[in-house]
Amino acid sequence: MQKYLEKQWAECMDDFSKTFSSVSYSLWLSPLQPLNIEEDSIVLTVPNELAKSTLERPNYHDKILSIVKQHFNLSNFILILEQERDEYIKEFNLSHPNDEDAIDITSIEKPITKQNPFNPRYTFENFVVGTTNQVIYAACRAVAEQPGKRFNPLFIYGGVGLGKTHLLHAIGNYIWEHKTQNINIVYITCEDFTNDFLEALRKKQDTLSEFREKYRNADVLLVDDIQFIANREKTQEEFFHTFNNLYQAGKQIIISSDRQPKDIPTLTERLRSRFSSGFIQDIQPPDFETRLLIIQKKIELEDYSYAPGLDYLLAERLDNVNIREMEGILKKIHFYAAMHGMKEANKEVMEEVLNSQGELEKKKSSSISEDKIIDTISKYFNVPRDDLIGRKRNKEIVEPRQICIYLMWSLLAIPLTTIGQTFNRDHTTIIHARDKIMEQAKSSPATQKILEDITKQIKSD
Ligand code: ADP
Ligand code: MG
Repeated sequence: MQKYLEKQWAECMDDFSKTFSSVSYSLWLSPLQPLNIEEDSIVLTVPNELAKSTLERPNYHDKILSIVKQHFNLSNFILILEQERDEYIKEFNLSHPNDEDAIDITSIEKPITKQNPFNPRYTFENFVVGTTNQVIYAACRAVAEQPGKRFNPLFIYGGVGLGKTHLLHAIGNYIWEHKTQNINIVYITCEDFTNDFLEALRKKQDTLSEFREKYRNADVLLVDDIQFIANREKTQEEFFHTFNNLYQAGKQIIISSDRQPKDIPTLTERLRSRFSSGFIQDIQPPDFETRLLIIQKKIELEDYSYAPGLDYLLAERLDNVNIREMEGILKKIHFYAAMHGMKEANKEVMEEVLNSQGELEKKKSSSISEDKIIDTISKYFNVPRDDLIGRKRNKEIVEPRQICIYLMWSLLAIPLTTIGQTFNRDHTTIIHARDKIMEQAKSSPATQKILEDITKQIKSD
């Protein structure tokens, strides 16, 4: 049975490699292992939840199924997590499949030696996965699960504060926690590598060989912020040798940078081509959904009390800051509320903090202004500007005015009292107008459409 399973599965894999892109194949398909045939289904193991949910999406699921059907004449496939495999085997009384070719990081006894040098907060569990970082996340997990076997070198690049260091530590933490044999994981920032190296150069030959030994004995080498190697010829030369040594020995190398190898000035051609020979993947600023998930995760981890809905508002507002800055703002909001003896942070606190943060400046300079909103609405509804901010109360004017108030509130980081001044009304009137439109937008597609159209116009010119 095992033989049959393996033979047919090899054929499936062959078809997968032709059907899916090479990235999809290596990320999602190649880790699959056949475990059993259960009635009319083949049981496969997947390394983690992300892989499982990806493969269950229709575009993967349907193609996999049709290939499985061809080679096995089965009507279904079942995915179980690798961590559930032992239990499954016990339950079904299967013989243990041997997978000698993967580095088995669970087979040898655990020597408890040094302390885990990695930041305990920077784990895979604490890393929020969204569309902007899921590929790099999956690649990092793959590398952590099978160091040296999958993507080598793995090159991560992206702007500051987007999670590169977090991911490197997550790989370190994961291997550290799961290792049972002595795997030597070395994490170093490029700065430290350079300084260590120059220091060693200045001293005697002994120190230099010590230096080399430290890095060349690594089983997994994590190098953070490699861009700092630019302009340092000697260090590049040294790193090149370290790299080659490790690479040829099949050791895992993971590198982070704020930009792609091709954009690092004065990177020697040979290093550039070494870096490019592996898997290069960027990490993008988070989109709305990812921001929301990150905010929710941080609120949960830090045990912040936030009013319901504040997470949404923040996810909308914090569209031009990186994740590190997001964390800072969340913390400030929490402290501000606590300082004022509030049970939970609310929107007003958020406004205060964002204002003091200089968010207001950013928004103002981003070309959207009160004036622009008033002008656009005045044209859109064909209501004179003076009437819009005046005191007339006929329906043709009241509703555009309320929409105007709502949009000022949602598009600009300004306090309600400021909006009140513009309309010469107190802030309860402003709240009433805002809430009315917010409610209306929930149930009326027509209102949604109007808001969308106007917002588009406001943002377009
Ligand atoms: P970089 O090294 O790219 O400059 P860091 O890894 O230092 O960025 O990340 C900055 C902060 O943002 C860290 O506190 C990190 O935990 C957090 N962070 C970044 N990405 C995520 C994410 N996807 N989920 C949760 N926290 C994140
Ligand atoms: Mg960093």
